[in-house]
Amino acid sequence: MHPILDALPMLSLMEQTPIHPLPRLSQLLDGPELWIKRDDRSRLALGGNKTRKLQFLLAEAQAQGADTVVTLGAVQSNHCAQTAAACAMLGLDCHLLLRGQPDAPIEGNFLLDHWFGAAMQISADPKAQLPSLLDDLHAAGRRPYVIPYGGSNAVGLRGFLAAGLELQSQFDALDLSLDAVVVASSSGGTQAGLVLAQAAGVPWEVVGISADETAQDLTRIVRGLANAGVDALDLPLGTPPEPVCLDDYVGPGYGHADERTRRAIALLARHEGILLDPVYTGKAFAGLLDLVEQGRWRQGQRVLFWHTGGVAALFAYGSALLLEPA
Ligand SMILES: *Cc1c(COP(=O)(O)O)cnc(C)c1O
Repeated sequence: MHPILDALPMLSLMEQTPIHPLPRLSQLLDGPELWIKRDDRSRLALGGNKTRKLQFLLAEAQAQGADTVVTLGAVQSNHCAQTAAACAMLGLDCHLLLRGQPDAPIEGNFLLDHWFGAAMQISADPKAQLPSLLDDLHAAGRRPYVIPYGGSNAVGLRGFLAAGLELQSQFDALDLSLDAVVVASSSGGTQAGLVLAQAAGVPWEVVGISADETAQDLTRIVRGLANAGVDALDLPLGTPPEPVCLDDYVGPGYGHADERTRRAIALLARHEGILLDPVYTGKAFAGLLDLVEQGRWRQGQRVLFWHTGGVAALFAYGSALLLEPA
C-alpha cells in the first residue's frame, strides 16, 4: 500500500485489481485510448467496489470488538452481498436490512446473500427497522457494528483513496500517463475516495456518473464525504477538488435501464467480452461513450473506465436487458 496510508487500520480482503486497455472499442470509437480497471474481479463473491470500503470498515468493526455486522440496501444490493461474503470470510455474523417486496424473487445478489448465510429482513423502509434490530442484538448479548448504505462514510471511502493511489502506481509502473477516470456514483463513497486521491496528488480528472441522484445532490453528497474523509485523517492532503458529477445517464431512475444503458452493456460485451450491470456500470459506461462522442477527450489522451462490479444483477434482469428482449 502507499506509504501515506500505512498507519490506517485495514484488513486485507483482496489483491490489487488488474488494469488493461480496451483496444477493439478504442478503435471503433476513434477517440482517446480507453482502459478499464477490473474491480469486478476483486476476490470476494462475484467482485465489486464495496470490498475496498469493507477493508477499512471491518478493520474498525474488529477494533471495536464487534461480533455482528449490520448493513442496509436494496434487495439487489451489491454492497449487502459483498458485506455478507466478507463476514463469511472473517467469521462474523451478518444481518441485512433489505428494501423490497416481501415476496422478492431469490435471484441475483439476494440469492448470494442466502449462500453467504446472512440473516435478512425485507421491508419497504430498512432504516426504520434498524433500532429494533439493534435492541434485539444487544439484548442477545451481541456486539453489532453498523455499516451505512453503500459503506459510504469517512472510513469506508478510504478504500477508494487507497484505490486511487493503487491505480496511479499501476500507470507509473507502465510509464504511461492517464488523463481521466469515469466511474459510477451513487452513495458517493467511491467518488469521494477518488477525490481524496486527487487531493493526495493523482493527476487525472474524475467524472462520476450518477446511478440515481441529481447531479446537484450527488455533488453535495460527494463533497460532504470528501470533507469528512479529510477531517478524519491526519494526512498531508491538499484541499479536495470540487467533484464532477453528471446525471444525464440516470434514465428512468434507480435500477431502471434505458435503451442507452442496454446498448452500452451490449457494446462492451460484443467488443471486449466484458460484462457490465444495469444499475451502475451500464449507465456509467453509457456516459463514457457519450462523452467520447461529444469529444470531451482528444486522440492520444488516456481515459479509464473504473469497473465497479455488480454483474450479479444481470441475472436478476434476465432477457429483458437484451437489445431485442426475448
Ligand atoms: C455501489 C456501487 C457503485 C457506486 O458506489 P458508491 O460508493 O455507492 O457511489 C457503483 N457500481 C457498483 C456496481 C456498485 O455496487
